[in-house]
Amino acid sequence: MNILILGSGGREHALAWAVRQNPKCDRLFVAPGNPGMAAVARLAELDILSGAAVIGFCEENAIDLVIVGPEAPLAAGVADDLRSAGILVFGPSAAAARLEASKSFTKEICDACNAPTAAWARFDAAGPARDYIRAKGAPIVVKADGLAAGKGVTVAMTEDEALSAIDDAFGGTFGDAGAEVVIEEFMSGEEASFFILCDGTDCLPIGTAQDHKRVGEGDTGPNTGGMGAYSPAPVLTQAIQDRVMAEIVQPTVAEMARRGTPFQGILYAGLMIEDGHARLVEYNVRFGDPECQVLMMRLGAQALDLILACAEGRLADAAVTWAEDHALTVVLAARGYPGTYQKGSEIGGLDGLPEDSTRIVFHAGTARQDGKWLANGGRVLTATGRGATLAEAHERAYALADAIDWPGGFYRRDIGWRAL
Ligand code: ATP
Repeated sequence: MNILILGSGGREHALAWAVRQNPKCDRLFVAPGNPGMAAVARLAELDILSGAAVIGFCEENAIDLVIVGPEAPLAAGVADDLRSAGILVFGPSAAAARLEASKSFTKEICDACNAPTAAWARFDAAGPARDYIRAKGAPIVVKADGLAAGKGVTVAMTEDEALSAIDDAFGGTFGDAGAEVVIEEFMSGEEASFFILCDGTDCLPIGTAQDHKRVGEGDTGPNTGGMGAYSPAPVLTQAIQDRVMAEIVQPTVAEMARRGTPFQGILYAGLMIEDGHARLVEYNVRFGDPECQVLMMRLGAQALDLILACAEGRLADAAVTWAEDHALTVVLAARGYPGTYQKGSEIGGLDGLPEDSTRIVFHAGTARQDGKWLANGGRVLTATGRGATLAEAHERAYALADAIDWPGGFYRRDIGWRAL
């Protein structure tokens, strides 16, 4: 079959790498992709936020399945357009993508199905929000309701911090995303991510992970898109996963179906675990980046069979073949990231690196010019290793990262510290 993946980051390179290994895959395209993926897929220039453009490409190239990587095309309704055109697609409708696009929507769903999450209230004006914060006290969490690229959340340790987050939100810092604000009870504990395929009715867990959001070692400094991740997450024991499926995920999927907006795609549950109990922090409606890299490394070729079963509504009969393995990925970012950084610095040592089912560098933001690799973004490469133990995966990932000669870049040396 011919497959089109939408997106351009390390997540999409990892998806393409896994899908390519499956003999069912004939021609594979990534739009827009990046030059680092050219070894496994053809790159297609395409406006991935336009349903019409994606449909046109699918018709011209006899595409049998579209896999949507990032959230923006989902929120824009590209999956709806493809379904209406009779094209098989992996990814939720815009209505179901609200599980990520609106925090208050997710909270309402949790309330409707009694799923454990932080107590919350919604405000569309600053006055009542301020009163609520004064009544509840700190620590407390203030969130712009809409998509704010991870920047709309303030975990306030003091009342003043929370009040100034209210001023920012209603002062227009997050644009429309901040026109409504959700204020939440602060949850303490350890965070982990749980990934579940859903076909609208049935659900199949495909792995757990933990990521490192902060730019600095010891989880310090500003937040980023993610500086590394590993899978599995030891804190998400089988018993906790079973409870999360029964108390949070299955009720959510049933409630979405009941509302006439079934969820089909990958549900990424961000969880807070304390004393053996998990509560929902958030849902995302796509794979995480860099969590996707460690999941794909562990699933390999079967990822396509699972995605296909999901898109075709056959998850009830699908199963994951687990190896007793671990994967870890280290993000190499441009110096200055997540603040201002330069594009165009040269990266040496990339060609000729070992690459097999236990180690690979996924490209997130590279460009190719005159036979050289150049940095073309903030997060640029993800060095990924797999092994029988987390220590082995760690060693393989860091051996790759260390072999890359990039004076313009940096990476954290302590990915996986919590589990190691
Ligand atoms: P991202 O997509 O970057 O994870 P987001 O904007 O979708 O962020 P959330 O995931 O809801 O927002 O929150 C971001 C982070 O803030 C969480 O990963 C968690 O560390 C922290 N956080 C959110 N809600 C709470 C809460 N109720 N208690 C404690 N910490 C929280």
